[in-house]
Amino acid sequence: MKSLAEIAVQIMAIFALMFTGIVVAVLWFTHISSKADNKKELEKKKIEVMDRHFDEMVTVECPYCGATYPSNITRCPTCGANIRKLVVRKA
Ligand SMILES: [Zn+2]
Repeated sequence: MKSLAEIAVQIMAIFALMFTGIVVAVLWFTHISSKADNKKELEKKKIEVMDRHFDEMVTVECPYCGATYPSNITRCPTCGANIRKLVVRKA
């Protein structure tokens, strides 16, 4: 038969192991989620930059007067028509 001290040590060892396991799991999940957040943030930044460049590069033709202007302009510089709603945006 085991002594009480031995049993106590074993119980403490089990708790220590469980605690270590939990800490490792929490750290691991935090690490994973922070990595995922960074990736998401990067992806968002990339899309924003691409979107801005897209806006600068693409010229849109006004459906009312036929004038061309950068797609980041919300109003036609020639006739003043608000044509933003006619431009299909992905976001
Ligand atoms: Zn116009």
